Amino acid sequence: MIADNIHQIEVALTAFPQTVRLVAVTKTKPVAMLAEAYAAGSRIFGENKVQEMAEKQPQLPQDIQWHLIGHLQSNKVKYIAPFVSLIHSVDSLKLLQEINKQAAKHNRVIDCLLQIHIAEEETKFGLSAEEARELLHSADVQQLSHIRITGLMGMATNTDDETQIRKEFQGLKQLFDQLGEFRSDNVVFSELSMGMSGDYLIAAEEGSTLVRVGSAIFGNRSYT
Ligand SMILES: *Cc1c(COP(=O)(O)O)cnc(C)c1O
Repeated sequence: MIADNIHQIEVALTAFPQTVRLVAVTKTKPVAMLAEAYAAGSRIFGENKVQEMAEKQPQLPQDIQWHLIGHLQSNKVKYIAPFVSLIHSVDSLKLLQEINKQAAKHNRVIDCLLQIHIAEEETKFGLSAEEARELLHSADVQQLSHIRITGLMGMATNTDDETQIRKEFQGLKQLFDQLGEFRSDNVVFSELSMGMSGDYLIAAEEGSTLVRVGSAIFGNRSYT
């Protein structure tokens, strides 16, 4: 079943002009299910908790790209710095500086996305457009040689209103295009992470390059 779901989504994603990569969101799922997704061809796994990701990573093949998609606390960066391939959820200078510091210890450059607040809900993390612009242009960020900011991430409002979801994705794509005009040694925009199980096709239509899909692959998520 997992394999069928992955194949269906992968086929659907080939319909778009841009390359859209599937991040299989594996949070709360046992390692056996991740192994099943791997056998079906998945190579990008998304987790939202540091400890869970750090526990699963050594138990699975080493060619998996691990993406951290949930809120990240600075004091936990060290646990994922040796292997994480993309952090979707960067929302402060302090966090970028800590990622840079930990990446340097491992002689790595860690790719990061700035998380933008696009939903109506108050509770979701993320930067405003203006905060993201300031961060990108700041001299503090330009000094960080062990991180690379490769784009933006956003989560649409949790609603059935497709028009609203589409509008929010369009807004994020517009910001991506604007901010992407700024380039420096460690700012090179190529990735736009938007779309989940309920809205990944809308997101892909609006220009997403990474969709983060959990329940449509693994079944309904168990909230913990
Ligand atoms: C859980 C989660 C997803 C996947 O959600 P589904 O609706 O199960 O596809 C995507 N992005 C983030 C940030 C998540 O926490």
